Amino acid sequence: MKTINHIYINGQFITPHGDEVLELVSPVTEEKITQVRLADVDDTRQAIAAAKAAFPAMRLSTREQRMAWLQKLHDAVSARKAELIDTMVEEYGCAVGFAEATVNHACDSFLQMRDVLSRFPFETRVGNARVMMEPLGVVGLITPWNGNYGFIATKLSTVIASGSTAVIKPSELSARQTALIIECMHTAGLPDGVFNIVTGRGDVVGAEITRHPDIAKISFTGSTVVGKTIARGAVDTLKRVTLELGGKSANVLLDDADLEQAIPRALQVMSWNSGQACIAGTRLLVHESRLEAVKAQILKDITQLVPGENHGTAVTAQQYQRVQNYIRKGIEEGAELLWGGEGRPEGFARGYYVKPTVFVNVRNDMTIAQQEIFGPVLSVITYKDDAEAIAIANDTVYGLQAYVSGNDERRTEAVASQLVAGRVFVNGVYNEPQAPFGGFKQSGIGREFGTFGLEGYLEPKAIMGQ
Ligand code: NAD
Repeated sequence: MKTINHIYINGQFITPHGDEVLELVSPVTEEKITQVRLADVDDTRQAIAAAKAAFPAMRLSTREQRMAWLQKLHDAVSARKAELIDTMVEEYGCAVGFAEATVNHACDSFLQMRDVLSRFPFETRVGNARVMMEPLGVVGLITPWNGNYGFIATKLSTVIASGSTAVIKPSELSARQTALIIECMHTAGLPDGVFNIVTGRGDVVGAEITRHPDIAKISFTGSTVVGKTIARGAVDTLKRVTLELGGKSANVLLDDADLEQAIPRALQVMSWNSGQACIAGTRLLVHESRLEAVKAQILKDITQLVPGENHGTAVTAQQYQRVQNYIRKGIEEGAELLWGGEGRPEGFARGYYVKPTVFVNVRNDMTIAQQEIFGPVLSVITYKDDAEAIAIANDTVYGLQAYVSGNDERRTEAVASQLVAGRVFVNGVYNEPQAPFGGFKQSGIGREFGTFGLEGYLEPKAIMGQ
């Protein structure tokens, strides 16, 4: 069993004060693989103090210095990509391909922000006023287990570009990968205290970051329920908040969609990271005239999702159980199982593997169509015309991402423009790393990536006279 005994404060590897030790099991073997000593409130305060002390110098750093630091962070983590991929597979039981894509994307995010920074206008004019975009101070970054490194990299690179300093609180479920990230990022040689990493419980470390008066902003990625707790807690000190929360993304197949392309894509986007992705396309909206053809195509293509190869596990026993409960609930509420269902896939006696599962005859008011399951469960819902498809797609509390497939550009464009979602993918899955990312409605507040992301970490200040 691997023991993790360090957090990172003021450029130093520190043993947490707290004596709480968490044991994590492999989602593949169900054996204990990691023992992690968790940070406590005192450790958190120490990290905040270090970030506060580092801020005055960071605030005065030049664009060129910050660009050089982003390059160094990129180089330091990229040098150990293979280990970062291995720890993801070990810690979360995810497929190797998914881990590779996530790690590559995370490494690249340092360079993307470096590029944004190279041309970002920190000073503009409005009439006689000079408008300066100022850094905020100490920013608290609270991240989820899924895509741990990706969120740390995106948020930290933005903090550095803005000239602020950071206290990072990753999920305790990502302790192993976080320990490795700390080792990598330490070698980048940034000034002490610019970033600090405290792995601990949400209701201990996360709550202290939320309430602490020296934190100017929180950038949070995680569930909508915790996002609301953070927003409430941040009110007392009027912290700025960026919230990247849950989703229940619709995938609209227009009646002229090419099913041989659209269905493999639909299965891919519903099963990303075994469905444990905020942007998973978990509602497939199908014109009623094409239902039988869609069912046949799903049955043909779903065998390409192979548990243990390109389809990984749920992250914990608790998450596995949660997905099973949703599958049961779908059956109880009258949805019809087309594929998959309760229990492990055939041939698996252990491991938190969930069968890729497809329900048809789903109404949009059913629990499985409204709540974020965070598992590979697809709800197929029929509609009569484009207007009804749009209405169903928009009928959830979420608005993070959406997908549209169809052969008539004017129609796909009309539908895309009416979907209430931060991102809409038309006829494909694309990587546009500087396009804004974030949600409408209860999927969040604010945007990340590119200049939209950087602006969220800056405060405009107008100087007049002289
Ligand atoms: P989570 O909300 O349970 O935890 C996220 C982080 O918040 C963890 O570090 C956790 O320790 C911390 N936390 C928990 N309670 C807290 C509290 N009271 N105060 C402060 N911090 C607290 O989420 P998770 O299970 O790690 O991740 C899955 C969720 O994240 C899903 O809902 C998913 O949709 C969402 N997510 C959203 C995005 C996005 O960009 N919109 C991306 C990935 C994941």
